[in-house]
Amino acid sequence: MKKWNFFSGPAILPATVLQQAATAVIDFNGMGLSLLEISHRSKAFETVMNEARQLVRQLLQLTDDYEVLFLTGGASTQFALIPYNLLPHNATAAYLETGQWASNAIKEAALFGKVQVVASSADTLYNHIPKNYNVPADAAYFHITTNNTVFGTQMHDIPTISCPIVADMSSDIFSRPLTNLSSYGVIYAGAQKNMGAAGTTLVVVRKDLLNKTGRQIPSMFNYQTHIEHHSMFNTPPVFAVYVAYLTLQWIAEQGLENLAQKNTQKSQLLYHEIDRNTLFKGSVAIEDRSQMNVTFVCTRPELESEFLTFAEQNGCVGLKGYRKVGGYRASIYNAMELEGVQTLVQLMQEFEQRWA
Ligand SMILES: *Cc1c(COP(=O)(O)O)cnc(C)c1O
Repeated sequence: MKKWNFFSGPAILPATVLQQAATAVIDFNGMGLSLLEISHRSKAFETVMNEARQLVRQLLQLTDDYEVLFLTGGASTQFALIPYNLLPHNATAAYLETGQWASNAIKEAALFGKVQVVASSADTLYNHIPKNYNVPADAAYFHITTNNTVFGTQMHDIPTISCPIVADMSSDIFSRPLTNLSSYGVIYAGAQKNMGAAGTTLVVVRKDLLNKTGRQIPSMFNYQTHIEHHSMFNTPPVFAVYVAYLTLQWIAEQGLENLAQKNTQKSQLLYHEIDRNTLFKGSVAIEDRSQMNVTFVCTRPELESEFLTFAEQNGCVGLKGYRKVGGYRASIYNAMELEGVQTLVQLMQEFEQRWA
């Protein structure tokens, strides 16, 4: 039976990417060697790194003010590296607290400088994105999480403000075209949601923001080091970078406009069924619903696990909600085909016929 993968991360990848990656582990580019056993300084791997960086430039239409890095340590390491590199100890960074990951980022920033949480939806378990807040004009940066993977909300409008925006795009990067590039200071994303395998994190940084904290920063934690060495200061995570490179190629072939349209179509189909079906209901504010992570609950709690079992038996896996939230979460990233969402919707309808 065809398996439809709704896991939130690590998550679904295009089948062609998995095949190419598998081949490269055995025989990379017909070299008779595995990708995993050649020097990262070899011409063959340097080409992968450079082309991956180039694809990011092309997809985000980056100007020369920005540098593209592939780092390690997950998005969680960036929670610390961003204030380490950008926030002088007596300056203030503004944060929008929209979920679990934003909250983690806030904790880390407080180690390096002053933090002002301009708005938070914590007291309603992050079921919406706060609106109508003020960002102090003199903030070093304003940190947002564009898509809240755990709770299933997404920012559909990025605010216009006077300080640079730092955006955690781990779970919606390349799901739609990027607009207003110049309002961003840093864009970062762990690869394992929408652009590859776990092990590397994409960081796009505007160079003029660096070297202003007056702080000594260890080499590995300093963006400047990685800029100067083109993400090859130390051994990069070669496999993860290669899978990101293949996925970026696939994204470029699809086109961001086209992917955005498909993501709208897939999420609308699923939300429509959630709203129609008497056994299910959505868990977040309608205007903030995510196109990547669709969260919902069962209107009859005694049937909650019954539906998970039914879905799994019929090929839909990874639907269990985040451990602290419960309910369901269908992650429908770029690589999820419309047919996968149609299959899930059909199962929801059959479940209703059986139990309602
Ligand atoms: C998954 C996720 C993270 C954490 O990523 P790690 O690579 O596990 O550190 C951070 N932010 C968002 C929005 C995420 O979805």
